[in-house]
Amino acid sequence: MKNTIDVLKDKLKETGFKITPQRRAIVEILLKNNHTHLSSEEIYDLVRVDCPEIGLATVYRTMQLLDEIGAISKLNLDDGCIRYEICLNKEDSHNHHHLICKKCGKIMEAKEDLLDSIESEIQKLYNFEILDHDVKFYGLCEDCK
Ligand SMILES: [Zn+2]
Ligand SMILES: [Zn+2]
Ligand SMILES: [Zn+2]
Repeated sequence: MKNTIDVLKDKLKETGFKITPQRRAIVEILLKNNHTHLSSEEIYDLVRVDCPEIGLATVYRTMQLLDEIGAISKLNLDDGCIRYEICLNKEDSHNHHHLICKKCGKIMEAKEDLLDSIESEIQKLYNFEILDHDVKFYGLCEDCK
C-alpha cells in the first residue's frame, strides 16, 4: 500500500504541482496532527519549528492548493477561522461529524453516522435526492457540563 505522502505526490503531479520541501513539511504536520483540526496559523507555528524560513503566505497558498486537489477537508465553525484536516479521498472526507464544546472550544469527532435514516425520511418527504450532509453538534463536553 502506498503511503500518504506518495498518494499526495501523485495527486499533486496529476494537477501539475510539485511537492516542494515546504509543502512536504506542511503535509507532514497535517499527518502528524490528524484529527486535531488545525487552523492555518497553528499549522504555520508547527511547521516553523523545522522550517523556520517558511512564511504564513506559503501556508495559506499550500492549504488552498491541497483543498483544490481534494486532499484536505475544511471545518468551518463560523468563528472566522477555518480548520483543516487531511483526507485523501471522498469516502474519507465524510467519515465523521464534529462535536464542539461551547465552553472550552474542544472539538471531538463522532464516528457514528446516524443520519442515514433522517436522509431517507427527507428524500421521501420532499422528493429530494440527498448527495451529502454537513452537520456540527454544539454543546458542553464532559469536563464542562
Ligand atoms: Zn475531524
Ligand atoms: Zn468543554
Ligand atoms: Zn454523516
